[in-house]
Amino acid sequence: MQTNGHTKNGHALPLDAADFSDAEERQVVIIGTGPAGWTAALYTARAGLEPLVYQGSEPGGQLMTTSDVENYPGYPEGVLGPQMMDDFEDQATRFGAEVRSGRVTDVDFSGRPFRLLVDEETPVRARAVIIATGASAKYLGLENEQRLLGRGVSACATCDGAFFKDQEVAVVGGGDSAMEEALFLTRFASKVHVLHRRDELRASEIMAERAFDNEKITFRWSQEVRDVLGEETVEGVLVEKNKTGETYELPVEGLFIAIGHTPNTAPFAPWLETDADGYLLTEPDSTHTNVEGVFASGDAQDHVYRQAVTAAGTGCMAAIDAERFLAEADANSEIDEERTETEYHEAAAQDSEEQATLS
Ligand code: NAP
Repeated sequence: MQTNGHTKNGHALPLDAADFSDAEERQVVIIGTGPAGWTAALYTARAGLEPLVYQGSEPGGQLMTTSDVENYPGYPEGVLGPQMMDDFEDQATRFGAEVRSGRVTDVDFSGRPFRLLVDEETPVRARAVIIATGASAKYLGLENEQRLLGRGVSACATCDGAFFKDQEVAVVGGGDSAMEEALFLTRFASKVHVLHRRDELRASEIMAERAFDNEKITFRWSQEVRDVLGEETVEGVLVEKNKTGETYELPVEGLFIAIGHTPNTAPFAPWLETDADGYLLTEPDSTHTNVEGVFASGDAQDHVYRQAVTAAGTGCMAAIDAERFLAEADANSEIDEERTETEYHEAAAQDSEEQATLS
């Protein structure tokens, strides 16, 4: 379904400030470099589409903050997450995928070629787009949590755990990420307190058992962090026992937040259908979004499986879908129907007039 000059809400969001008249045009632009993005890059490169890959604000994605990956087939001894992403990149670039740093900050999906703005200033056009922007860590939303981010507060034990040698730390969350973070932190910390808002874990049994069996880990059930204490660095957390309302201070030097993720889909949300949590919706058994020529893969679209291997799988699907879409467009000489820059501007002007009439 083509949106025909409007976002899904009927609003026009033309990238008016940028001049697209001389913008580079690519067959396919891939946004994001986790397992989904790299796999899409590998497949589209091997299909001769010379993909352009934007790394985004977290190059390599969540695996860059993962230690041992033991559940990706083909690595019988396991592999470190960053090493795996290096391997993915090497394989994709070997076949000609072009990688650039930069974040796609705005898009116009109202016509083809699609218009993308990188880092709010560089215009690029694409006949097809594969979104593989993944998801980012959630935070509790406390003022002092943000103030002390990087000074004791972290969402990544793999990145920051080593700073807490022989110190006490707390982990918030009751899912697999929280167990993984807590277990990893026991390599350094003298004690790890897991603060969970309920009295049962969401984590898988195997991860929970490993955490229960580790004598450095203490579980604090039905407890929530209400504040993060400390001036320059974290000195403790204010905890509330949510069944009684009683609060107490827990002295810790590190606070690791492991409460899930938010999909990185904000620039696309005006154009693409999402679920209530912002995950991109795709047609069943495909990576097609509601805009023809735009495909979604990986954790930006999958809130159920969220595994490296499934992300790679949907990256492959997106590449095949994009390849078929472009082949069909060429076969139907659809290139002649593509929107010119003048038509973009006319559509934008018409939208502005309509908005003015409505307001
Ligand atoms: P998750 O399964 O959604 O768990 C998030 C946890 O954070 C839940 O226990 C939740 O509590 C808690 N939480 C959420 N918002 C909170 C808030 N505002 N305050 C306090 N607690 C809050 O997320 P995840 O652990 O990141 O895992 C995501 C997916 O990745 C899962 O499918 C998981 O199995 C997978 N994963 C697998 C591995 C592995 O196998 N090695 C490692 C990491 C992740 P409630 O339980 O009360 O909702």
